[in-house]
Amino acid sequence: MRTPIVAGNWKMNKLLDEARGLAGDVAEASGTFEHTELILSPTYVALPALSEILSGTDVGLSAQNVHWTEQGSYTGEVAPSMLEEIGCTHAIIGHSERRQYFGETDVSVNRRARAALEHDLTPIICVGESLAERQNGETELKIKLQVRAALSEVDAGDARDVIFAYEPLWAIGTGESATPEQAQESLAAIRGLLADIYDDSVASSVRILYGGSVKPHNIDELIQGPDLDGALIGSASLESESFLSIARSVESWAE
Ligand code: PEP
Repeated sequence: MRTPIVAGNWKMNKLLDEARGLAGDVAEASGTFEHTELILSPTYVALPALSEILSGTDVGLSAQNVHWTEQGSYTGEVAPSMLEEIGCTHAIIGHSERRQYFGETDVSVNRRARAALEHDLTPIICVGESLAERQNGETELKIKLQVRAALSEVDAGDARDVIFAYEPLWAIGTGESATPEQAQESLAAIRGLLADIYDDSVASSVRILYGGSVKPHNIDELIQGPDLDGALIGSASLESESFLSIARSVESWAE
Protein backbone atom coordinates (compact mmCIF):
# COMPACT_ATOMS: atom_id res chain seq x y z
CA MET A 1 0.00 0.00 0.00
CA ARG A 2 1.19 3.52 -0.80
CA THR A 3 1.75 5.65 2.30
CA PRO A 4 -0.69 8.56 2.19
CA ILE A 5 0.49 12.15 2.45
CA VAL A 6 -1.07 15.21 3.99
CA ALA A 7 0.82 18.30 2.87
CA GLY A 8 0.18 21.90 3.87
CA ASN A 9 0.98 24.64 1.37
CA TRP A 10 1.13 27.83 3.42
CA LYS A 11 1.65 29.96 0.30
CA MET A 12 2.58 33.60 1.19
CA ASN A 13 1.19 33.41 4.73
CA LYS A 14 2.55 33.45 8.29
CA LEU A 15 5.15 35.74 9.82
CA LEU A 16 8.02 33.91 11.43
CA ASP A 17 6.54 33.66 14.92
CA GLU A 18 3.24 32.39 13.56
CA ALA A 19 5.08 29.90 11.37
CA ARG A 20 7.05 28.66 14.36
CA GLY A 21 3.86 28.21 16.38
CA LEU A 22 2.04 26.29 13.67
CA ALA A 23 5.02 24.07 12.91
CA GLY A 24 5.47 23.45 16.64
CA ASP A 25 1.89 22.20 16.94
CA VAL A 26 2.36 19.87 13.98
CA ALA A 27 5.73 18.64 15.29
CA GLU A 28 4.18 17.90 18.68
CA ALA A 29 1.34 15.89 17.18
CA SER A 30 3.46 14.17 14.54
CA GLY A 31 4.40 11.19 16.74
CA THR A 32 0.76 10.07 16.71
CA PHE A 33 0.83 9.47 12.94
CA GLU A 34 2.13 6.05 12.00
CA HIS A 35 0.57 5.56 8.59
CA THR A 36 0.54 9.07 7.16
CA GLU A 37 3.36 11.29 5.95
CA LEU A 38 3.01 14.93 6.94
CA ILE A 39 4.68 17.70 4.95
CA LEU A 40 4.77 21.44 5.61
CA SER A 41 5.55 24.00 2.95
CA PRO A 42 6.14 27.49 4.40
CA THR A 43 7.62 30.51 2.65
CA TYR A 44 11.34 30.42 1.83
CA VAL A 45 12.17 32.71 4.73
CA ALA A 46 10.57 30.37 7.26
CA LEU A 47 12.31 27.24 5.97
CA PRO A 48 15.39 27.42 8.24
CA ALA A 49 13.22 27.92 11.36
CA LEU A 50 10.97 25.02 10.41
CA SER A 51 13.95 22.86 9.64
CA GLU A 52 15.01 23.22 13.29
CA ILE A 53 11.52 22.73 14.70
CA LEU A 54 10.87 19.64 12.60
CA SER A 55 14.26 18.01 13.09
CA GLY A 56 13.88 14.74 14.94
CA THR A 57 10.33 14.32 13.61
CA ASP A 58 9.16 12.55 10.45
CA VAL A 59 7.48 15.68 9.11
CA GLY A 60 8.75 16.59 5.64
CA LEU A 61 9.80 20.13 4.79
CA SER A 62 8.94 21.46 1.38
CA ALA A 63 9.89 24.58 -0.53
CA GLN A 64 7.20 26.15 -2.70
CA ASN A 65 9.45 26.13 -5.77
CA VAL A 66 13.02 25.35 -6.84
CA HIS A 67 15.26 26.56 -9.64
CA TRP A 68 16.98 24.19 -12.05
CA THR A 69 20.54 25.52 -11.86
CA GLU A 70 23.10 25.49 -9.10
CA GLN A 71 23.89 29.18 -8.89
CA GLY A 72 24.05 32.30 -10.98
CA SER A 73 22.25 35.41 -12.08
CA TYR A 74 18.66 34.38 -11.39
CA THR A 75 17.30 37.07 -9.11
CA GLY A 76 14.56 35.81 -6.85
CA GLU A 77 15.23 32.12 -7.43
CA VAL A 78 16.59 29.47 -5.04
CA ALA A 79 18.85 26.59 -6.09
CA PRO A 80 18.15 22.96 -5.18
CA SER A 81 21.41 22.60 -3.23
CA MET A 82 20.44 25.61 -1.09
CA LEU A 83 17.20 23.90 -0.16
CA GLU A 84 18.98 20.64 0.50
CA GLU A 85 21.50 22.44 2.70
CA ILE A 86 18.80 23.70 5.07
CA GLY A 87 17.05 20.34 5.31
CA CYS A 88 14.29 20.51 2.72
CA THR A 89 12.96 17.15 1.62
CA HIS A 90 10.38 18.24 -0.98
CA ALA A 91 9.61 21.04 -3.42
CA ILE A 92 6.21 21.99 -4.78
CA ILE A 93 6.54 22.59 -8.51
CA GLY A 94 4.11 24.04 -11.03
CA HIS A 95 1.44 25.19 -8.58
CA SER A 96 -1.36 26.81 -10.58
CA GLU A 97 -0.63 30.15 -8.91
CA ARG A 98 2.92 29.97 -10.29
CA ARG A 99 1.59 29.03 -13.71
CA GLN A 100 -1.11 31.70 -13.63
CA TYR A 101 0.71 34.69 -12.12
CA PHE A 102 4.42 34.04 -12.62
CA GLY A 103 4.74 32.59 -16.09
CA GLU A 104 5.56 29.02 -15.07
CA THR A 105 5.32 26.76 -18.10
CA ASP A 106 5.32 23.02 -18.69
CA VAL A 107 8.95 23.38 -19.83
CA SER A 108 10.10 25.16 -16.67
CA VAL A 109 8.11 22.71 -14.53
CA ASN A 110 10.02 19.86 -16.15
CA ARG A 111 13.38 21.57 -15.60
CA ARG A 112 12.60 22.23 -11.97
CA ALA A 113 11.35 18.68 -11.41
CA ARG A 114 14.47 17.13 -12.93
CA ALA A 115 16.74 19.38 -10.86
CA ALA A 116 14.85 18.47 -7.69
CA LEU A 117 15.19 14.76 -8.42
CA GLU A 118 18.92 15.13 -9.00
CA HIS A 119 19.22 16.63 -5.50
CA ASP A 120 17.04 14.14 -3.64
CA LEU A 121 14.31 16.69 -3.23
CA THR A 122 10.99 15.00 -3.90
CA PRO A 123 8.98 17.06 -6.37
CA ILE A 124 5.30 17.59 -5.66
CA ILE A 125 4.13 18.45 -9.17
CA CYS A 126 0.79 20.23 -9.46
CA VAL A 127 -1.49 19.78 -12.45
CA GLY A 128 -5.10 20.73 -13.07
CA GLU A 129 -7.62 22.17 -15.45
CA SER A 130 -9.38 25.53 -15.47
CA LEU A 131 -13.15 25.82 -15.24
CA ALA A 132 -13.39 26.60 -18.96
CA GLU A 133 -11.34 23.50 -19.79
CA ARG A 134 -13.61 21.34 -17.63
CA GLN A 135 -16.70 22.84 -19.22
CA ASN A 136 -15.26 22.15 -22.68
CA GLY A 137 -14.62 18.51 -21.79
CA GLU A 138 -10.84 19.01 -21.91
CA THR A 139 -9.98 18.01 -18.34
CA GLU A 140 -8.26 14.72 -19.13
CA LEU A 141 -6.43 16.15 -22.12
CA LYS A 142 -5.10 19.07 -20.08
CA ILE A 143 -3.87 17.10 -17.10
CA LYS A 144 -2.30 14.42 -19.30
CA LEU A 145 -0.42 17.08 -21.28
CA GLN A 146 0.87 18.58 -18.03
CA VAL A 147 1.91 15.23 -16.55
CA ARG A 148 3.62 14.08 -19.76
CA ALA A 149 5.52 17.37 -20.07
CA ALA A 150 6.56 17.35 -16.41
CA LEU A 151 8.07 13.88 -16.82
CA SER A 152 9.95 14.54 -20.04
CA GLU A 153 13.41 12.91 -19.75
CA VAL A 154 12.60 11.54 -16.28
CA ASP A 155 13.46 7.84 -16.15
CA ALA A 156 11.33 5.19 -14.48
CA GLY A 157 13.56 5.03 -11.39
CA ASP A 158 13.09 8.72 -10.69
CA ALA A 159 9.45 8.81 -11.76
CA ARG A 160 8.55 6.45 -8.89
CA ASP A 161 9.61 9.14 -6.41
CA VAL A 162 7.54 11.93 -7.93
CA ILE A 163 4.40 13.03 -6.12
CA PHE A 164 1.60 14.49 -8.23
CA ALA A 165 -1.09 16.80 -6.92
CA TYR A 166 -4.24 17.06 -9.00
CA GLU A 167 -5.60 20.52 -8.26
CA PRO A 168 -8.45 21.77 -10.45
CA LEU A 169 -8.08 25.55 -10.65
CA TRP A 170 -11.77 26.13 -10.02
CA ALA A 171 -11.52 24.31 -6.68
CA ILE A 172 -8.49 26.13 -5.29
CA GLY A 173 -9.40 28.61 -2.57
CA THR A 174 -13.05 28.67 -3.66
CA GLY A 175 -14.59 26.44 -1.02
CA GLU A 176 -15.92 24.30 -3.88
CA SER A 177 -14.06 21.01 -3.82
CA ALA A 178 -14.18 18.54 -6.69
CA THR A 179 -16.58 15.71 -5.94
CA PRO A 180 -14.95 12.42 -4.96
CA GLU A 181 -15.99 11.08 -8.39
CA GLN A 182 -14.44 14.02 -10.28
CA ALA A 183 -11.23 13.71 -8.28
CA GLN A 184 -11.04 9.94 -8.75
CA GLU A 185 -11.65 10.24 -12.50
CA SER A 186 -8.69 12.61 -12.94
CA LEU A 187 -6.45 10.64 -10.61
CA ALA A 188 -7.20 7.44 -12.52
CA ALA A 189 -6.35 9.24 -15.78
CA ILE A 190 -2.98 10.31 -14.34
CA ARG A 191 -2.24 6.79 -13.10
CA GLY A 192 -3.26 5.35 -16.45
CA LEU A 193 -0.89 7.73 -18.23
CA LEU A 194 1.97 6.74 -15.91
CA ALA A 195 1.37 3.11 -16.91
CA ASP A 196 1.47 4.15 -20.60
CA ILE A 197 4.67 6.19 -20.25
CA TYR A 198 6.45 3.72 -17.93
CA ASP A 199 4.75 0.56 -16.68
CA ASP A 200 2.24 -0.69 -14.12
CA SER A 201 4.85 -0.92 -11.43
CA VAL A 202 5.73 2.80 -11.71
CA ALA A 203 2.05 3.71 -12.01
CA SER A 204 1.17 1.84 -8.85
CA SER A 205 4.09 3.33 -6.88
CA VAL A 206 3.52 7.03 -7.58
CA ARG A 207 1.52 8.91 -4.99
CA ILE A 208 -1.16 11.24 -6.30
CA LEU A 209 -2.79 13.81 -4.06
CA TYR A 210 -5.92 15.85 -4.51
CA GLY A 211 -5.92 19.57 -3.73
CA GLY A 212 -8.65 22.19 -3.91
CA SER A 213 -10.77 23.22 -0.90
CA VAL A 214 -9.95 20.12 1.13
CA LYS A 215 -11.42 20.62 4.59
CA PRO A 216 -12.04 18.49 7.68
CA HIS A 217 -15.65 17.98 6.54
CA ASN A 218 -14.92 16.60 3.05
CA ILE A 219 -11.70 14.61 3.45
CA ASP A 220 -13.46 11.41 4.59
CA GLU A 221 -15.40 11.22 1.35
CA LEU A 222 -12.50 12.23 -0.92
CA ILE A 223 -10.06 9.73 0.54
CA GLN A 224 -12.28 6.81 -0.49
CA GLY A 225 -11.12 7.15 -4.12
CA PRO A 226 -8.86 4.17 -4.90
CA ASP A 227 -6.26 6.32 -6.69
CA LEU A 228 -6.11 9.03 -4.04
CA ASP A 229 -3.07 9.03 -1.79
CA GLY A 230 -3.78 12.08 0.33
CA ALA A 231 -4.19 15.82 0.04
CA LEU A 232 -2.36 19.04 -0.70
CA ILE A 233 -4.04 21.63 1.48
CA GLY A 234 -3.98 25.41 1.21
CA SER A 235 -6.18 27.47 3.52
CA ALA A 236 -7.10 24.62 5.90
CA SER A 237 -3.38 24.09 6.56
CA LEU A 238 -3.03 27.56 8.09
CA GLU A 239 -4.55 26.44 11.41
CA SER A 240 -3.11 23.43 13.21
CA GLU A 241 -6.55 22.26 14.28
CA SER A 242 -7.94 21.90 10.75
CA PHE A 243 -4.67 20.58 9.28
CA LEU A 244 -4.33 17.93 11.98
CA SER A 245 -8.00 17.05 11.77
CA ILE A 246 -7.61 16.29 8.05
CA ALA A 247 -4.43 14.34 8.80
CA ARG A 248 -6.23 12.31 11.50
CA SER A 249 -8.97 11.38 9.04
CA VAL A 250 -6.38 10.17 6.56
CA GLU A 251 -4.55 8.28 9.33
CA SER A 252 -7.75 6.49 10.41
CA TRP A 253 -8.50 5.57 6.81
CA ALA A 254 -4.95 4.21 6.36
CA GLU A 255 -4.86 2.15 9.59
C1 PEP B 1 -3.67 24.95 -3.04
O1 PEP B 1 -3.57 26.09 -3.46
O2 PEP B 1 -2.75 24.12 -3.20
C2 PEP B 1 -4.92 24.59 -2.38
C3 PEP B 1 -5.28 23.35 -2.44
O3 PEP B 1 -5.62 25.60 -1.75
P1 PEP B 1 -7.02 25.45 -0.93
O4 PEP B 1 -6.91 24.21 -0.07
O5 PEP B 1 -7.10 26.69 -0.14
O6 PEP B 1 -8.09 25.31 -1.97
